[in-house]
Amino acid sequence: MRAVVYHGPRDVAVQDVPDARIERPTDVLVRITSTNICGSDLHMYEGRTDFPRGGVFGHENLGQVAEVGNAVDRVKVGDWVAIPFNIGCGFCKNCERGLSAYCLTTADRSVVPNMAGAAYGFADMGPYRGGQADLLRVPYGDYNCLKLPPDAEERQNDYVMLADIFPTGWHATELAGLRPGESIVIYGAGPVGLMAALSAMIKGASTVMVVDRHPDRLRLAGSIGALPIDDTKGSPVDQVLALTNGIGADRGCECVGYQAHDPEGNEHPNMTMNDLVKSVKFTGGIGVVGVFTPQDPAPQDPLYKQGEIVFDHGLFWFKGQTIGVGQCNVKAYNRRLRDLISTGRAKPSFIVSHELSLGEAPKAYKHFDARDDGWTKVILKPAA
Ligand code: NAD
Ligand code: ZN
Repeated sequence: MRAVVYHGPRDVAVQDVPDARIERPTDVLVRITSTNICGSDLHMYEGRTDFPRGGVFGHENLGQVAEVGNAVDRVKVGDWVAIPFNIGCGFCKNCERGLSAYCLTTADRSVVPNMAGAAYGFADMGPYRGGQADLLRVPYGDYNCLKLPPDAEERQNDYVMLADIFPTGWHATELAGLRPGESIVIYGAGPVGLMAALSAMIKGASTVMVVDRHPDRLRLAGSIGALPIDDTKGSPVDQVLALTNGIGADRGCECVGYQAHDPEGNEHPNMTMNDLVKSVKFTGGIGVVGVFTPQDPAPQDPLYKQGEIVFDHGLFWFKGQTIGVGQCNVKAYNRRLRDLISTGRAKPSFIVSHELSLGEAPKAYKHFDARDDGWTKVILKPAA
């Protein structure tokens, strides 16, 4: 099969690799028809993680079931499925509590002792190959495949967002504790920030503010009723305070991660975290889904080599804020979000800018990585 293979910083190629196949009776084999490039892939693509050379990218996957193992009951050949980026088992202590991002069964302990959690094509998240390929092996297929309604094939560009970013944006608002009628500020208008904004709109936030500096992304935020805040026009903190009578937003979301930078491009891994503490009100809640890593092999800020940031803990404590962080437990939300899509209440495909063939992946990585104007979300179509 063909797959998107990592060869080193900013170097990927589409090449032949051994076919994915059923390895255990609980596996499902999926023929991938839509697979997105994610901001998380870019941390790896830029060489800012220890993703292995020769590894296959791709954790936002949708397709049609090609084969099922002997122990698979629920999923059938021909089903259209969206596959959460997390690989859970469904029966461990964490999966049972809905914490499928922290599965204890699928985690690879050879990388990190006490490790919890696994994902496809992801640094430190196990040996699982990604789905930017023709075929994907899905372990514990009954648990990990979300069956899609009859309109799945025509509406793949909406349903594929169930693999990661729509649930992740939703998770950001959950971690922040958003309730209907509250205001919220979201740092980052990439795909994840835009999905957090969509989630906040659906949940009935009174004001949704989105901070970034790319006009195309800010325009998309505006298109769903959020207030775009351009941080090249002045301090985002001051702009949020001005919009909230000097009090600050009730809730805040971090949708950027450790490669946060100023508009000139200099990285400050603590920038969005400290801006959130300042722009969220006393007693407000902050949800952090932007990725932070325990190590950075090529940090711009030497302190971040070991994943450390200078955090404004005094002000955070003084304001009595709460904070929730981490990867999204996709299984906790994906059925309900699927139903919001199928009834037409949510249309997450509004962020899609490019549908390309698998062979065009190297070009797509280059443009999406550069945040080139108009490259907001790429879906690769291996079957096209
Ligand atoms: P992206 O890189 O396309 O978007 C990030 C956006 O943040 C960009 O538009 C950039 O201009 C903006 N930005 C950078 N510095 C900023 C600053 N100081 N203030 C405001 N905006 C700033 O990526 P994405 O696909 O939207 O992903 C965002 C983050 O979410 C990444 O770190 C990704 O790894 C992470 N992620 C986490 C999960 C999870 O489960 N927690 C899932 C998916 C993605
Ligand atoms: Zn992703």
